[in-house]
Amino acid sequence: MISIPKGTKDVLPSEVYKWHYVESLIRKTASDFGWLEIRTPTFEHTELFLRGVGETTDIVNKEMYTFLDKGNRSITLKCEGTAGAARAFIENGLVSQAQPTKMYYITPVFRYEKPQSGRLREHHQFGVELFGSDTPFADADVIMTAKTLLNRLGITDLKLNINSIGCPECRKNYNEALKAYFSERADKMCPTCRERLQKNPLRILDCKVPECGELAKDAPVTLDYICDGCRQHHDKLKDILSYLKVDYEVNPKLVRGLDYYTKTVFEFISNAIGAQGTVCGGGRYNNLVEQIGGPSVPGVGFGMGLERLIMVAEAAGLYLGERQKPLIYIAPLGDEQYIYAYGLVNGLRQKGITAETDITGRSLKAQMKYADKTGARYVAVLGENERLSGVIKLKDMANGTEEEINISELTERLGR
Ligand code: ATP
Ligand code: MG
Repeated sequence: MISIPKGTKDVLPSEVYKWHYVESLIRKTASDFGWLEIRTPTFEHTELFLRGVGETTDIVNKEMYTFLDKGNRSITLKCEGTAGAARAFIENGLVSQAQPTKMYYITPVFRYEKPQSGRLREHHQFGVELFGSDTPFADADVIMTAKTLLNRLGITDLKLNINSIGCPECRKNYNEALKAYFSERADKMCPTCRERLQKNPLRILDCKVPECGELAKDAPVTLDYICDGCRQHHDKLKDILSYLKVDYEVNPKLVRGLDYYTKTVFEFISNAIGAQGTVCGGGRYNNLVEQIGGPSVPGVGFGMGLERLIMVAEAAGLYLGERQKPLIYIAPLGDEQYIYAYGLVNGLRQKGITAETDITGRSLKAQMKYADKTGARYVAVLGENERLSGVIKLKDMANGTEEEINISELTERLGR
């Protein structure tokens, strides 16, 4: 038996309805907020992620699925959604169209991580990317999209944390302060963080090693170092959220695991599923487009983990749609009836009615058991009498009642 690769999951036919439900809420919510879908390839040139995600991140350092293709090109499976969207934005000339550009996607994401609950090697994200506006209203658009989706799913126990990590200008001072603080404590830090100390001290605050987390608790915070412009942006976003009566907390320790963020960063966190509780993470990335070779265009967006989202919804016992069930199961009785039953079912299907019949050749008793398992709402036995008279008994499985009905009126009776 060849088994599934570590850290990946099958979604079985019996549970896929949950995904359909979540995806349809996503598409509706995205549409209400004016996002249009973008579909980018599952793999990109490795260079895109090196430049777009950053060489000091966990993703680029440890987690990318990178290989040489047969033409000796270095290719990487999508390890996040933003870089591909930004590349497409530049490459297809969307830059020169009316701004802002509001795009969303639902995509698989591949990261070589240590698999555990809520942490997979292939997971799926709903993401939005807004290019071409640097106002806090754009940040609010992004945050409110996530918030609205979570509300529509019925998830209420989520915390919204926001922070500002400033712009490259004010980050210089902040980086100095961080370097000074962590240099004195370098002996207690993990080897990766000792490297980060030189290249990108901000990343230390995002380290998952407990010792580094302890040290980070007393580290200088960004909000004490940001410039006037960044502070105004941050304050205005808070005003907007308050005006919309959205609960949030300013978490001065919040940074994001990706290099390209500027100003606003935010996360939605749930307590329902333990350690891997961050359902959605996002923020502003004003330097990304330029960093991957485009003009200077600001951007803001988020990525939301769908496996975690479904886990949270399940833990809270929320409605996640229903498994598809046949509206009617027609059970042929006797060999001669099979083709007639099959024709009948085919006709119903053509009219958009979910109908089933036997295609295995099992006994009537076994058919009844099977029909029950499928959750069919109505069951009708089709024997020789029924075929000749053109009248069948429709049994309503919801309440056990039976009614006689002309086969010719079946479509109408079943509601189409
Ligand atoms: P974490 O801190 O949990 O590693 P991250 O900062 O790497 O998260 P992002 O890159 O911001 O996460 O991805 C956006 C969202 O995608 C996360 O908030 C999470 O819900 C989900 N996600 C990220 N990595 C995984 C994974 N390996 N398995 C499942 N979901 C994930
Ligand atoms: Mg991660």
